[in-house]
Formats: sequence, C-alpha cells, structure tokens
Amino acid sequence: MSIPVVKVAVIGGSAIIGSGFPVEFSGVEVIEDDMTHDTPFGPSAPFTHASVDGLEFLYVPFHGITPEIRNTEPDSASERLFYVLLRAGVKKIIGCALCGSTNRLLDPADVVIPDGFVDYTTKRAQSLTRSLRAKGVETESIMYRLHQALCPTLSSLLVEGSKEAGFPRVFSRGTVGVAEGPRLESPSEIRLRYTEAGIDVVTMNLVPEVYFAREIGACYAALELVSNYGEGLVSTEWSGPEAFKEFQRRWARPSAEAILWALRRLDPDDDGCGCSTHRWRSIIT
Ligand SMILES: [Zn+2]
Repeated sequence: MSIPVVKVAVIGGSAIIGSGFPVEFSGVEVIEDDMTHDTPFGPSAPFTHASVDGLEFLYVPFHGITPEIRNTEPDSASERLFYVLLRAGVKKIIGCALCGSTNRLLDPADVVIPDGFVDYTTKRAQSLTRSLRAKGVETESIMYRLHQALCPTLSSLLVEGSKEAGFPRVFSRGTVGVAEGPRLESPSEIRLRYTEAGIDVVTMNLVPEVYFAREIGACYAALELVSNYGEGLVSTEWSGPEAFKEFQRRWARPSAEAILWALRRLDPDDDGCGCSTHRWRSIIT
C-alpha cells in the first residue's frame, strides 16, 4: 500500500492504550485503517489515516511496537515508523507515554509536558540516516542541535489540551529520563540516576523518537502522564498490574482528548517555532 502524504502524526503510547483513539472519538473520520507499509527494515506496524475537523493525521499505536517488532536494534519499531513518517512528509509529531515520577513533588495523574530529556538507553538506533544507509538507501546526511528538542508550540498546545481534558495538575516543563527497560528501575537507580540528577520522570520510549523527528525535519512534543512513583521515591507499596489497569481505565480517554484538542488547533504549516532550522546537511557524509 502506498504511503499517503500527511503532515501530522500521533505516535501512540501507554498513556492512551484502551482509549479507542482515534476511531472512538467524535469528530474523527477514518480515511484508511490497518495500513501496513513496507520499509527497508521490514513491514511497519499498522497505521490509521484519519482526520479531525479537516486535519489529516497518521496514527500508529504503542510506538510502532508489536509482538514481532521490537524497540531495539536492528530493524526497530522507530526505524520502521520514521521511515513511513519521512516518506509521508510529516512535519508535526505528538507522542505520549506513561511515566514514573522521580521528582518527589509529582503524583500519579500529574501530566508533564517535557522540555528536556536525558537518554539512558543502550540498545536504540541512534541515526535514521545511518540505519537507512546500512540498508542501501541513499539519503542526505543530517546534523542537528537538540537545545530545543521538544517543540514549544506543540508543547503549549498539549499543556492547554491536558488542562481542558481535566487533569488535576499539568506541568509545562520537566526533564524526562529515558530508561532502556523493559524492566522497571531499582530504588537505588531511581535515587542515584534520576532524582539526584534532577530528572522529574522516567519513561522508556521518548528515544529515539525525539532524535528521529529532528532528523526528518519534524516538530515533536510529548505528553508524559505520571502513573506511579519511581521505586522507593515515596513508598514501595503499590500493587503493579492491577493498579496500572485501574489507572488506565480512568485516564486513557482524557489523555487522548488532550491530544485531540491539540490536533484541532495545530497548524501543520506553521514554522514559527524554528524547530526545522536546527538541522542542516552534514559535512561528513
Ligand atoms: Zn516546532
């Protein structure tokens, strides 16, 4: 199936699993569902091509990860997913995830729209360009800065959208630590690696999305929803999967509504944020 030309994408994550996004929300029209695309890394996860109030967007659930597609190299979910977004010509990307608090002031159901991150991952693809070249696909070599890794315009729309969706507390800045996973962290790791380093929340899937978005010249912002305390931060007494399930039942739909609120108001052609100027053709090819 050929990749449609679309300027906006939503990369689903644990924050909206079970919400029915996007098909079960009013105002959303599905143009094409269950679209799997061939990529140099293998078939992609199934995409949905939809529109809301006339704005077309692509949606892929859970970071493009499936039982067959892992988030680690080689042929990772992000390499496949961003190949599709590159070919589609996507310029604005919204991501989302559940996260653990590593700042003692944060509680479950707080939303953080981050303005910074620290990458602790060890097995993720680092460059879409390099991955494509390794597959024999000729592509421009891109160098970029990350002083404004998260788009301020998209982020402010997510802040407003989260408030409108009814979250009790919404933070317009914060630093995300990205863990390799898939295990959760030990109390010592939470304290030494995250809390004492000034990191506010820990999650597993902001990387490499945030790099690859810059590499393809797209703005990127993410909604991070605190679902639990980092181990040892406040108390070690939480009940695991059941608590997560209950939490998701309560907050998955408001998370999706926050994203839809932002989609309804974003201008896919607005480049006033300057994100696209922070990348250039590399002198080293
Ligand atoms: Zn931007």
